[in-house]
Amino acid sequence: MLVGHKRVLQYLQKAVAEGNLAPSYLFAGIKGIGKFLAAQYFVSAIMCIDNRNGLPCGQCVNCRRIANGNHPDVRILTLADNKSSIGIEEIREGINSLQTCSYEGGYRFWLIDEAQRLTEEAQSALLKTLEEPSESLIIILIAHGEVGLLPTVTSRCRKFEFNPLSSNDISQFLISKGVANEKARVVARISSGSLGRAWDFVNNENLWDNRVAIMEIMGSVSEFSLWQRLEAASTLEKLASSDRLQNEYFLEMISSFFRDALCLKVGAKSDLLINVDCMQSLQKVSQNMSEASLERTLEEALKAKDQIKRNVNIKFMWQNFLIAISN
Ligand SMILES: [Zn+2]
Repeated sequence: MLVGHKRVLQYLQKAVAEGNLAPSYLFAGIKGIGKFLAAQYFVSAIMCIDNRNGLPCGQCVNCRRIANGNHPDVRILTLADNKSSIGIEEIREGINSLQTCSYEGGYRFWLIDEAQRLTEEAQSALLKTLEEPSESLIIILIAHGEVGLLPTVTSRCRKFEFNPLSSNDISQFLISKGVANEKARVVARISSGSLGRAWDFVNNENLWDNRVAIMEIMGSVSEFSLWQRLEAASTLEKLASSDRLQNEYFLEMISSFFRDALCLKVGAKSDLLINVDCMQSLQKVSQNMSEASLERTLEEALKAKDQIKRNVNIKFMWQNFLIAISN
């Protein structure tokens, strides 16, 4: 189910209705907000047998095959599970297979998901196809941000920026899926506009429990002894395991916690808060810590996140971070 992005979808619908299609597109935005679904929706709108004014019917054989990912004229390339990038071989293979005519006589599509992970070589190989587009091929690059994409590639594409979803859109969706109102409201706020992340929180009990544990630690860390801090560091390290993304994610949660505490400290309105389910801890921290310490803690969290990206030892990262937090 596609949530939000009204403006982009309206634009795409109009383009389909008017036959105003580009040979290549770039759908960019944070992870988990429905860019891939939007690409499928767009392809369906173009291929739909019962298309009405640029809207896909969702029922016909083409719409169904596209939704199921098994339309012969829609090729999908994504990052392999065991890899961290998409290489030149995969691009060459795709280009070769797309040389032939379409199976059903219309357009052919190539959806490249996680396009920000294309290696430079792979992008250079793709560039030629983007520069000399074939009339019946439409390429859609789907990227979580544009970092990593060559300007020569992005400039060839008609670009759509997907904004993070509003917390209202997310909570409405969660409630429609049977999530309790209060939890939906909290999850919507803590998922930074990403429905994928919100959905993770709802379906993955572990993640929710981890968050509770993290918030508990952060609520008291400024009062901890050195020994307790080291213990907390090892707890966090264990919870996140060696997964770097998970560690970054934890630091984002922590940043949002201290950001909330800072908001309370400076007397901001409570509807600006994210972690509305942790009011007690937040109030305690905002009373115990000075404004300068809260600001410094936020800077330290940023630094720690940067260290993860630079492959610093995770254990030391957590130890340093927790020791740096003072009243
Ligand atoms: Zn259809």
